[in-house]
Amino acid sequence: MATLRYRATAKVLCDECQSQKDQKRRFDTKCTNCKWLRYENVNNLLTFRDFLNRQFPNWVFFNVFKYIKGKDGERLASYQKGKNEPTSKEV
Ligand SMILES: [Zn+2]
Repeated sequence: MATLRYRATAKVLCDECQSQKDQKRRFDTKCTNCKWLRYENVNNLLTFRDFLNRQFPNWVFFNVFKYIKGKDGERLASYQKGKNEPTSKEV
């Protein structure tokens, strides 16, 4: 049986952009201090979300892709913090 596995990318705001967002102001989406994280081994969207909340509380959204070794698989879903967070461990 194949193990469920996704690739995920998450956008994490720098403190400055986060503070703009907290004040409901526009932040620079191309800011180079903000980070994109990439994970190759996501198998549970709920624990991945919890991991981001713990380690990278400034995350704003993450994209989930079909995992294909060495290639970019199709995008399966996109989740936004506080808006449409995952409700189950799978897409
Ligand atoms: Zn920034």
